[in-house]
Amino acid sequence: MNKRNFIKCSIFSAFYFSLCPIHLSFAETKKIINKNLTETQKKIMFDEKTERPFSSPLNYEKREGFYHCANCDAKLFKSNSKFDSGTGWPSFTEALPGAFKTKVDYSFGMKRTEYHCAKCGAHHGHVFDDGPGKSGKRYCNNGLCLVFKPTT
Ligand SMILES: [Zn+2]
Repeated sequence: MNKRNFIKCSIFSAFYFSLCPIHLSFAETKKIINKNLTETQKKIMFDEKTERPFSSPLNYEKREGFYHCANCDAKLFKSNSKFDSGTGWPSFTEALPGAFKTKVDYSFGMKRTEYHCAKCGAHHGHVFDDGPGKSGKRYCNNGLCLVFKPTT
């Protein structure tokens, strides 16, 4: 191997090994577990689409309980962190510990923080820093990604 090719190769390897593990690990954990997901749910959870605002009945859910991932059933939010943000999507001030992983999303020319289920990788929504609670967070979640299970 001549020197130039060696340099090219080294740069390529460094690039490959620095970026690919992140990509691979994300793709590996992203999988459909619930075979009954609708096409719309799949579009949101696996293509990061967003449901129409004010379309989810969960906007009006006020009972005590837990919100689970519609794909893998992981517990994500407790009802006492839910609040009415007026945005038309179910909104929460905090998630249960370890429920989500985040990544920065640059789509639509905006810098936003996307979050996905830590267990199955399904996209759920975006988290903003303008929440009303102590955490200052606002989790803006697609209702179709959630299943509410009341405790009372
Ligand atoms: Zn999940």
